[in-house]
Amino acid sequence: MNQLAFEPDALSHCECTGERQVRTELESPACDSTLTVEEAAAKTWDVAVIGAGPTGALAARQVALLGLRTLLVDRSSFPREKVCGGCISGLGRRLLESVGLADLLDSSHAAPLGRFDLAAGGRRVSFDLPAGAAVSRISFDAALVRNTVEAGVAFVSGTTTLVRGLAAGSRLRRLVLQQDDRRFVAQSRMVLVADGLGRTSLKQHRAFAPRVAATSRIGLGATLPGTAAEIDAGHVLMSVARDGYVGLVRVPGDAINLAAAVDPNHVREHGPAETVRHIFTQAGVKPPTGLEAVDWRGTGLLTRHSRRTAAPRLLVLGDAAGYVEPFTGEGMTWGMLSAVLAAPMVADWLGRDAAESADDRLASRRECRRLAHDWSAVVRAQIAPRQRDCRILAGLLRNPAAVRAAMALIGVAPTLVRPLIGHFWNAGKGIDLQGSSTIQSSMERTRHKSSRPREVSSRI
Ligand SMILES: Cc1cc2nc3c(=O)[nH]c(=O)nc-3n(C[C@H](O)[C@H](O)[C@H](O)COP(=O)(O)OP(=O)(O)OC[C@H]3O[C@@H](n4cnc5c(N)ncnc54)[C@H](O)[C@@H]3O)c2cc1C
Repeated sequence: MNQLAFEPDALSHCECTGERQVRTELESPACDSTLTVEEAAAKTWDVAVIGAGPTGALAARQVALLGLRTLLVDRSSFPREKVCGGCISGLGRRLLESVGLADLLDSSHAAPLGRFDLAAGGRRVSFDLPAGAAVSRISFDAALVRNTVEAGVAFVSGTTTLVRGLAAGSRLRRLVLQQDDRRFVAQSRMVLVADGLGRTSLKQHRAFAPRVAATSRIGLGATLPGTAAEIDAGHVLMSVARDGYVGLVRVPGDAINLAAAVDPNHVREHGPAETVRHIFTQAGVKPPTGLEAVDWRGTGLLTRHSRRTAAPRLLVLGDAAGYVEPFTGEGMTWGMLSAVLAAPMVADWLGRDAAESADDRLASRRECRRLAHDWSAVVRAQIAPRQRDCRILAGLLRNPAAVRAAMALIGVAPTLVRPLIGHFWNAGKGIDLQGSSTIQSSMERTRHKSSRPREVSSRI
């Protein structure tokens, strides 16, 4: 079996069998910490954000722009790699534009995407893909972190964070910041957890344990040389078979990004290169050359959700709040959407919290529950329906007869797919990207159903 290195999030599920290598051609300038971990622990923060992927970095930027003292912590040093197809949907692009980050795609050398080729059972169909972009996660995530720092966020990298329980009556959440073998305790009025699929910062809190789908696949990723496959710039080639699907896209730096969702048993038996080759062959696509020679990276089981997305003075965002298989390439968009929705809500809540009397513990507890309840409502209204639709599509792809029928139908009537692409790739219906009216209406809808916020345990 050739080398496979699992992302640290996945270590609880899978065995780490190799070392990760960052390709030098795609490396971005370093994003250094802006303060030491000792300095971070010595201050009291308005907002501490755990995880500097697209969700956490954007959330930190947005709350800092609203005037809050913000700390962003990541256990990795940036630039860092991430298993991902690197496709940003039309909605993701509009989200970035709406917060003044239209230039971010240019500065991270994103390539415009124009076509989606779907291959299965020896057939191939193509359709236009409006308004998307392909990024290298090494460059994109690093560029976003740099932008976040420019917005005034304090950044500490190479530091693993653990969330502590909220002491009764306390208005500050404590976080353990661990760097090498040194540990410090930081304090913040609000914590945003955006630490990805593994949600490791909450591992001590059973209430947040994710429910992982029994038939879940794992993610595989690799960067191939630009000559490894025939694929045009701006095209996504998705090969679908019984044991999973593999996406190829040309990314900046004359490289091809390979990202796959595959049956973990197949990988265990045959290794990542053979599993991916098998999927290409079944789909009727010539496999790229050199699959055995690349460094493979793996994730934990992908499809998971949690009943809890909030606790007093703590909101969970992005992949950490739940994820489904990546067929529609929307994970970054879901995460960035949750960041954009959370920021004004958090700023507004902290403004009222600061104005409240320090002695009124009862009112403070009630308000904590109210925020947790409102955030859960926003996640249910804005993110969960998008993930549900993606889960339905991914479920259909597991049925070979359904895939054959769909390919035949699309072959004779390709326009049938247009509304689906619009739905998954461009849909921003009901989202007010300029303001918080979406949040208000989500909150009002749920408040209408239950006039009192449900009890949210404050043990965590
Ligand atoms: C095979 C595959 C293909 C995909 N293709 C696409 C695609 O084409 N388009 C798309 O939009 N999405 C895609 N996705 C999904 C996308 O990668 C994720 O949805 C996205 O990265 C989520 O962003 P995030 O910021 O929530 O989490 P992440 O990007 O995972 O960031 C989490 C960060 O938290 C840090 N961290 C973790 N634990 C701790 C801790 N305890 N303390 C401090 N820091 C911590 C990590 O180092 C990491 O930097 C794909 C996923 C897979 C597996």
